[in-house]
Amino acid sequence: MKQSVEQLVRPEIQAIGAYHVADAAGLIKLDAMENPYRLPAALSDELAARLAEVAINRYPDPSGGGLKDELKAAFGIPDAAEVLLGNGSDELITLITQALARPGAKLMALEPSFVMYKMNALLSGLAYVGVPLTADFDIDLPSTLAAIEQHRPAVLFIAYPNNPTGNRYPRDAVEALIAAAPGLVVVDEAYQAFADDSFMSEAGTRDNLLVMRTLSKIGLAGIRLGYAATSSAWATELDKVRPPYNVNVLTQAAARFALEHRAVFDGQAATLRAERARLAEALAAQPGFTVYPSEANFVTARVPDAQALFAGLKAAGILIKNLNGAHPLLENCLRFTVGTPEENGAVLAALAQLK
Ligand code: PMP
Repeated sequence: MKQSVEQLVRPEIQAIGAYHVADAAGLIKLDAMENPYRLPAALSDELAARLAEVAINRYPDPSGGGLKDELKAAFGIPDAAEVLLGNGSDELITLITQALARPGAKLMALEPSFVMYKMNALLSGLAYVGVPLTADFDIDLPSTLAAIEQHRPAVLFIAYPNNPTGNRYPRDAVEALIAAAPGLVVVDEAYQAFADDSFMSEAGTRDNLLVMRTLSKIGLAGIRLGYAATSSAWATELDKVRPPYNVNVLTQAAARFALEHRAVFDGQAATLRAERARLAEALAAQPGFTVYPSEANFVTARVPDAQALFAGLKAAGILIKNLNGAHPLLENCLRFTVGTPEENGAVLAALAQLK
């Protein structure tokens, strides 16, 4: 007797939906924290020539060629730290979670935060503990410390700055959590290019710290490259979980090319920071909007009727993210990825029409 899909697949997987990616065809795409700028044409041609040289008949160099050292040099990763590469930082989250999935192990995250922490707990069979942020999305230090003591999580994920709220927690609060946590603390710095602080200088120097970043938000979401910096003890174990050849040759070559042209991406990040300030100020001037401080490439706002505004913007050709319903603390919240000045202008013009 053959067994059906329903009999074979774990019930907790059957109970969830796949990671949802909205259809953005024909819309101004401001839903996924991408950098709106493409590579300048001259650089695209140069990249094409570089990619044409890559030996795609060969498996990738598992050590990333010189890429790890180049990332270290470019992003101030301490000598004491080892670097691990992932197919996006999404894959790094999966590797960490898989390595820690002993029976009874717990994964803790602050809530609301990046949904893949919880998802990976479920997929790897760790118990998930979500600790709510305060109403204005700050760390509730007493309750988080109490939860750490009670649950003793194998891993605590802290997005710094946080997605989907945009704020960066006070450094002292994160320090206190790292000091108190008995397990690994992952400081996820996906939005670091838009932030004013980082834990990278401590990577490799503290036994229970892993700092994770990605090239996705700075203009390379399509190539899928995430990197983690941590002690050699952690890097050695996590590397055993990593699938062989997880970062393909084209990604490695494109990343190395991008690092050679870092000034272009830094310039775009600077433009986006300035646009973030302009967008936040204009959103804050809308009646009934509460705009939360952001150190990321998006701005989150609580509005009178998120569903109506989301639908109105979509009808006007603009796709943002409606956070309403994603978590009780996100009631009537919308997340606006910072676009080009023209795209942000279109958002503000559409909002003026919708009033
Ligand atoms: N961490 C955070 C906090 C994120 O918001 C995201 C993307 N939304 C990721 C990690 C994953 O990024 P990627 O897999 O593109 O590196």
